[in-house]
Amino acid sequence: MLLDVQYLIFIIIVILTSTIVLKLKILDFKGTLSSIFMGNLIYLVTGIEGFILVIEFFIIGFICTRFKFKQKRKKGIAQEKGGIRSWENVIANGFAFSLFGTLYFFTSIESFLAAFIASIAIATGDTLATEIGLLSSNKPKLITNFKEVETGKSGGITLLGLIASIIGIIIITISSWIIGFSFNYYSIMAIMIGAFLGIIIDSVIGATIQAQYYCDECKKFTELQIHHEKNNRLISGFGFVDNNIVNLLATTIGSGLSILIIIIF
Ligand SMILES: [Zn+2]
Repeated sequence: MLLDVQYLIFIIIVILTSTIVLKLKILDFKGTLSSIFMGNLIYLVTGIEGFILVIEFFIIGFICTRFKFKQKRKKGIAQEKGGIRSWENVIANGFAFSLFGTLYFFTSIESFLAAFIASIAIATGDTLATEIGLLSSNKPKLITNFKEVETGKSGGITLLGLIASIIGIIIITISSWIIGFSFNYYSIMAIMIGAFLGIIIDSVIGATIQAQYYCDECKKFTELQIHHEKNNRLISGFGFVDNNIVNLLATTIGSGLSILIIIIF
């Protein structure tokens, strides 16, 4: 159809939302452009329902990043520039959504739709784990050996963060059901288990191969390569495995596991 009214309304909403996103400094200009592109793709392959889920992830992420931002900044190293995100962040989080959404569009295989929802659940759960976990009064423990580590160290988990991530997974799974994605009981379980495994994988990759830096000025561990516009010292992991790569791998593998669980059971 040349002029689809619903699509036209969608475009107007997207332009309005992007203006707000830019104004509120949630994303920078390139980040906003890539999110418009990705939002369009999601709308075209999964419909308005899929788009609503992605927006939900976006809003939850925004609220949690800004929640008690100053307190988090004191404790560890908060995201630079007040939590503003760029295109790398959008692509890293949105890669799995786009991949599984597109696969579903071309094949109509329901497992791909389940994986699409699982990927949003992982991204949401991971954001919640990080942002809410930072507020924990207990020091995080490294997922690989359960030894206490400094706040801000990748692969460190807290009970509060873990609970927050499970709540995130449940919120996305339940809303996908409310929105109208119909799944049977087993698929819903597969989405939630795959998503939870995705969160665990995120921490395991974070603890092992993710680049870990130390900021000599803040005297704190960080996953940021640059702080105060200066290069931090690489302590462990590989330089090219940054937080975005970890997110991309964890969301893709976790959602893939959801498919595997559906196939096996
Ligand atoms: Zn610093």
